[in-house]
Amino acid sequence: MTLRNVPDNMCPIATEYTTMLTGDWRALRPIVDRDRCVKCATCWLYCPVQCVVEKAAWFDFNYDFCKGCGICAEECPHRAIRMVEEAEG
Ligand code: SF4
Ligand code: SF4
Repeated sequence: MTLRNVPDNMCPIATEYTTMLTGDWRALRPIVDRDRCVKCATCWLYCPVQCVVEKAAWFDFNYDFCKGCGICAEECPHRAIRMVEEAEG
């Protein structure tokens, strides 16, 4: 899923993620509890920058592009994602 009609320079979360590295400004990062994840892909569906990636038995995140917004953690129906301070991650 991409937002094709929004100019790239308009908003960082409306840009294809491969053109927008996060750098070091993110305050929080999502962490998956692998025992709780059932691979429903809800986090993948809701992530505004498409940085949720599928692993063999759970879903994980590409931290090069994750903005730490927490939407995935809010939307996960199995409460398998928690947001932690960058220093903890
Ligand atoms: S929404 Fe939660 S349970 Fe579903 S794939 Fe993502 S982490 Fe796993
Ligand atoms: S916190 Fe979750 S929804 Fe937000 S950018 Fe990172 S992976 Fe995507």
